[in-house]
Order: sequence, then C-alpha cells, then structure tokens
Amino acid sequence: MRAAPARGRGPRRLSPPARADLHAHTRASDGDLTPAELVRRAADLGVATLAVTDHDTLDGLPEALAAGAALGVRVIPGIEISVAVPHGMFHLLGYLPGPSPEPLASRLAGLREHRALRMERILGRLAELGAPVSMADVARHTDGTVGRPHVAAALVAAGHASSREDAFARFLADDGPAFVPHRGIGPHEAVRLVRESGGAPVLAHPGTLRLGARHLQSTVQSLRDAGLVGIEVHRPEHTPEQRDAYAAIARRLRLVPCGGSDFHGPGQRFELGDTGVPPLPPDTPDLVFRAVGEGVPSPG
Ligand code: AMP
Ligand code: ZN
Ligand code: FE
Ligand code: FE
Repeated sequence: MRAAPARGRGPRRLSPPARADLHAHTRASDGDLTPAELVRRAADLGVATLAVTDHDTLDGLPEALAAGAALGVRVIPGIEISVAVPHGMFHLLGYLPGPSPEPLASRLAGLREHRALRMERILGRLAELGAPVSMADVARHTDGTVGRPHVAAALVAAGHASSREDAFARFLADDGPAFVPHRGIGPHEAVRLVRESGGAPVLAHPGTLRLGARHLQSTVQSLRDAGLVGIEVHRPEHTPEQRDAYAAIARRLRLVPCGGSDFHGPGQRFELGDTGVPPLPPDTPDLVFRAVGEGVPSPG
C-alpha cells in the first residue's frame, strides 16, 4: 500500500513523530554519559532535538554540538544555573545562541568558586555527622562541575550510605542535615544574565521552589518581568495536577510551556526523551527563541 503524499512535502513519513527533550545532563556536571554518548543515545531513541543543560558549566557543549552535527540531532546549547534562594532549590535553564555566549561564559568561573566553597561546607557537615568523605573522593565521579550526586556516590563508595537514594534521604536532600544552599547569583540577576547573553531563560522544575500556588505565580511573574520566557511543564515526574497548574501559570503569564526528562544516566530515574504525558511539543525551542527575539521584556 502506498502512503498518500502529504501536500507538497513528498511521501508522508510513517516513522514516529520527532521528539524533543530540552533538559539533560552529561559528565560535564552530574550526568553519567559523555556529551557524545548522550547525543548518540538521543539519535538511537529518536530524540531529534536535544538541549544539553549541565549545571553551571558550558564545558560539554562543543562535543555535544559536534556529535549532533555528525548524527543528525539538533543540539540546543544550554545550561542549568544554580540560583541562590533561602529555601528549596531554584534552577534556571538557559537556551543559548552558541556554546560560549558572553557575559555568561565569563561569569561562570565565579559561580564555580561558590560551588567549590559550598562543597567544602557540605563535606564539613558530613564529617560532623560521622560520614566523612574527601574532596578527592567526590571529584572522582565527575569530569567537571561537582555536585551533590557526586557526594552521594562518594558516600556509597565509603560505606556511609547503601545507595545514592539513601545518601540523599539521610544527608543531602534539600531539607537534609548536610544540605548547604547555593550562593553566587540571585533569581532576577540569573534571568538577566541569560538574556544579556542572547539566551532564553526558563524556570526548571517549579515544584522545587516549594511555594504555594499563589506565591509561585507572583514569583514567576516577577521573573517574567526580568525576562523569563518559559517554565517547565512537561516533566516525567509531574503529576497531572502539577502539569496543569504549571501550564495554567504559563498561559496566564504568556510563558512558553517547556520541559524535558532531566536525564542523568542510563538506569537512573527517567529515560532520555521521556517528557511525560502529553510529551513536549517538538517546536518548543523555536517558541522560546522567538520569545527572546520579539517583544518580551528585555533585560533592564
Ligand atoms: P546540586 O547542584 O549540588 O545542588 O545538586 C543538584 C542535583 O542533585 C539535582 O540536579 C539532582 O540531580 C540531584 N538531586 C537533588 N535532590 C535529589 C534527591 N532527593 N534525590 C536524588 N537526586 C537529587
Ligand atoms: Zn543534576
Ligand atoms: Fe535541576
Ligand atoms: Fe537538571
């Protein structure tokens, strides 16, 4: 049986629709795969558009972009910035015009210093709690940015925890005894930094801000006034209620509903390309870049 030709476009393709995933990590921060391995996995899984969003570093991007060009995956250069807030966890995604946009690239060196100081404080707390690990133990688990997942791996290796989940549950979770908040850049400043660098700032996993519905909307509104263009809606762990609540905020505030798997490695919580139900619309990157190009509040 012949497929009917779609208007002016040649034969209709029978392959599954192209998928997009706008949130994924590599060994440049706390992912388990190298950037090239991540892009290869995207190609194998039919993820045609992939944003690489490591924590506080751009270091994985050149390799990811080269792999994308070789394998036919549209790689969007990105970052996930750790933002200083008094409670909860605030991560700002930035979708970028290239692998090393300024002033963002220069600013990151300072943020990494804050990260290293914070890590020392986390290790100090762990020693007090009777679970000592050294900086070398932690750094062994990454090619780049050190973070709590690497501490979790070091705690397991040292026998202080039975699994990474156990390490988070007992020590490292946002309300755990060894948690130390990020310092270095505030929410509005981070949004403006991404905009000044020609990028599209998007609020990651709004639930980890731990705000009630009304407070969340007013917070997101003030971020939008600073230049935010999107908010994560499509994430595999979102309940239907969360998805609908964040979609409603996006609609009310005219933000692009974004999302991704937040893939960290094979066998971890979610597979690359899993963006929940319904999945992330594949034209989302075009919408966020259009929002930056057109009339949304520019950094002031
Ligand atoms: P950090 O940047 O050092 O604060 O680490 C943040 C990362 O830790 C997140 O991106 C997740 O990969 C991981 N993470 C945070 N909370 C948990 C948790 N409760 N269980 C497992 N991993 C977590
Ligand atoms: Zn992470
Ligand atoms: Fe995050
Ligand atoms: Fe992430």
